[in-house]
Amino acid sequence: SKKLGRNTYSLFTPDMGEGVSRRLLLEEQMRGGLGRDEFSLNYQPKIDLRNNRVTGVEALVRWENEELGKVSPDEFISVAEHSGLIVELGQFVIFEALRSMKAWADSGFEISVAINLSPRQFHDLNLIPFIKNTIQTFKVDPTLIELEITEGVLMSGHRFITDALQSLNEMGIKLAMDDFGTGFSSLSYLRKYSFDTLKIDRSFIADLMEDEEDRALVDAIISMAHSLGLDVVAEGVETIDQVDYLTLQGCEYAQGFLKGRPMTFNALTKSLEGERRL
Ligand code: C2E
Ligand code: CA
Ligand code: CA
Ligand code: CA
Repeated sequence: SKKLGRNTYSLFTPDMGEGVSRRLLLEEQMRGGLGRDEFSLNYQPKIDLRNNRVTGVEALVRWENEELGKVSPDEFISVAEHSGLIVELGQFVIFEALRSMKAWADSGFEISVAINLSPRQFHDLNLIPFIKNTIQTFKVDPTLIELEITEGVLMSGHRFITDALQSLNEMGIKLAMDDFGTGFSSLSYLRKYSFDTLKIDRSFIADLMEDEEDRALVDAIISMAHSLGLDVVAEGVETIDQVDYLTLQGCEYAQGFLKGRPMTFNALTKSLEGERRL
């Protein structure tokens, strides 16, 4: 570590240094990258298992930095959350997603668009006005917008979160509980807030055909969701056997590499056009 002079101590010890400096580098590059158009959105199709058609997409942010190359969202989203950059990045995601939605609607594709929201974004007083304004800018149908949140958002129980969810609800925006099953108190949240959709985390889907316990859990989650009036999306669906099983259990939607990887706006538009010709 650097010598900072007499009686001056470096903030970082050598063993925490590497992780910290990587995060600092990411933060610095993200700050610049937001102004350099380094971020973009991919869209992953969500399939209605009842008719095998694309009914919606999930917007997933991508980052390709001039120095670092492609960085995984699992890495940079966490840095963005801790640094507060997620607010600006999140606004970019909302804006871009609604812009795409508008383009699809203009081409006659009435598909829903799911957008991930981090807990930190709810601390931004401008979140709801920003969403409202962007809906007005693009004149998109708010009932086709779905916001995906994890229970981390709800854990604090802050009044402003309840209020924000209520406002979104009044605007007609749909709410999905993401990564369901990975926390421990999601059940009570499903009762307390007005969710429309439950997304079963892909860790439950991965070994579905091999693991009897996973099947029992998935069955239970689906029937519980249905008794609460929620639609179910299975994440990380990679095989036909999984599709068949989930369809039989009454799961409404599947998302995963089998039916479509996250892809660019152009690639997704092409695949919608291909489907229309069927
Ligand atoms: P997530 O919300 O659970 O998104 C689904 C992730 O699963 C995506 O990873 C997607 O590429 C991956 N996936 C989809 N189908 C399959 C499959 O069949 N098999 C496997 N193994 N994986 C599959 P991705 O794009 O790397 O995103 C990772 C996480 O980063 C997301 O998890 C989400 O938590 C976060 N994220 C991505 N975009 C955004 C964003 O715009 N805003 C926020 N706040 N978070 C985002
Ligand atoms: Ca998600
Ligand atoms: Ca998820
Ligand atoms: Ca996840």
